[in-house]
Parts: sequence; structure tokens; C-alpha cells
Amino acid sequence: MTSIAENLRQVRERVAGAATRAGRDPATVSLVAVSKFHPAESVAEALAAGQVVFGENRVQEAAGKFPPLRAAHPSLRLHIIGALQTNKARDAVRIADVIESLDRPKLAAALAEAIVREGRSPAMLVQVNIGREEQKAGIDPDALDDFVAECREVHRLKIGGLMCIPPAEDDPAPHFAAMAEAASRLGLPVLSMGMSGDFEAAIAHGATHVRIGTAIFGQR
Ligand SMILES: *Cc1c(COP(=O)(O)O)cnc(C)c1O
Repeated sequence: MTSIAENLRQVRERVAGAATRAGRDPATVSLVAVSKFHPAESVAEALAAGQVVFGENRVQEAAGKFPPLRAAHPSLRLHIIGALQTNKARDAVRIADVIESLDRPKLAAALAEAIVREGRSPAMLVQVNIGREEQKAGIDPDALDDFVAECREVHRLKIGGLMCIPPAEDDPAPHFAAMAEAASRLGLPVLSMGMSGDFEAAIAHGATHVRIGTAIFGQR
């Protein structure tokens, strides 16, 4: 077994364990393998080990790495999880199956236009700045409900759920709980939260997608 295959096996086991402890069906938690800064060969190893859902931060990096892999593995699914500039909206819509970083009205407008032009409609998650951090991407929690309404009513985007990255220095649990509360209030089924260091806590609070890089592919 390669180390990536072995890491994946261990991560899947931990994901299933956390789900079971939370009284959840492990099949309700989807593992997004975050391959940013790792070469296509590493993604190929993960594919060989049965992983089909991947996450990338940067559209340009993903566009360089994924098209040949997707041609060989039609079931591959790509999530864009990093900050997205409006001038990359069209490229993102062209290559992504899910865009997890929708976080401002201008980007919503650019994505809506790109969907029309490309004839392709990736699922959209709204990124929430759940810790209200100055530097961090994401919509302010107080503006979330209005923003989701604007995405739906003005831009006609189908919003599937919410995504967050809690502040690195905080206990993530209260932030995960606040996210779950917001998703439930808005009737949104998808909750993307939890990374290598905190995915078990995220699953305990209802994460439907965990985004795990380091624990699968090693240090970047
Ligand atoms: C890099 C990244 C991850 C994965 O982080 P790890 O700690 O390596 O598991 C998850 N989500 C986002 C948005 C990221 O940028």
C-alpha cells in the first residue's frame, strides 16, 4: 500500500468512527481530499485507492492538474475551496463540480453570468466568516441570511449549503455549532467544515463534508 492509500484508509476509519460516535450514518459524511500543492501523481494515487472527491484552493492550479485525471476517471469530482476572484469565476464554473467559496455579492453576480455562458452549473456553498476575523474570507454571520436570499432571488443561484474555516486559535466546537444552527435555520442540507486538525469535532456537530489535506497527502 502506498502511504497515501494507507493515510486514506486511516482517515476514512476516523471519519466513520466520529460519525458513529455522533449517532450518525458514516455514509452521510463525504470526504473531500484536499490536494493543493501536491502533484497530479499524488491525486492519481488517491484515485487508485478509491478516492474520487478532491478539493483545490486555486482555480489555475486545479485547471493544470485535473483535466487529464478527469478524462481517465469520469467519476472524479472537484471542489474549489479557496478564495475566488471574480475574474476567475468563468474558469471555476468550467472546471468545478462544487464551488465552496461564494462569499460576496460581486462574486455571486460573476458566477451567475459564468453559469449562463458556460452552460454548466456547479453546486454552490456560501463561505461564512464564522469567527468574524478581520482578514478572513467569508460573509459575516450577521449578513448571511440576506446574502443567501440575494444569491437565490437576484442571481438565481442554487445554494446547497455553507462552508467555514474557524479561527485557528479558537476551540472550533462553538463555531461548528453556530454553523449547524445557521444551516438549519436556512434549510440548507450541506455543511462543509472540518480539516485535518478538527474534522472529528466538525462531524460531531453535523458536518456533511470534511476537507482533509495534510492527513492524507502529508505536509505541503
Ligand atoms: C488547505 C485547506 C484545507 C485542508 O487543510 P488540512 O489542514 O491540510 O487538512 C481545508 N479547507 C480549506 C479551505 C483549505 O484551504
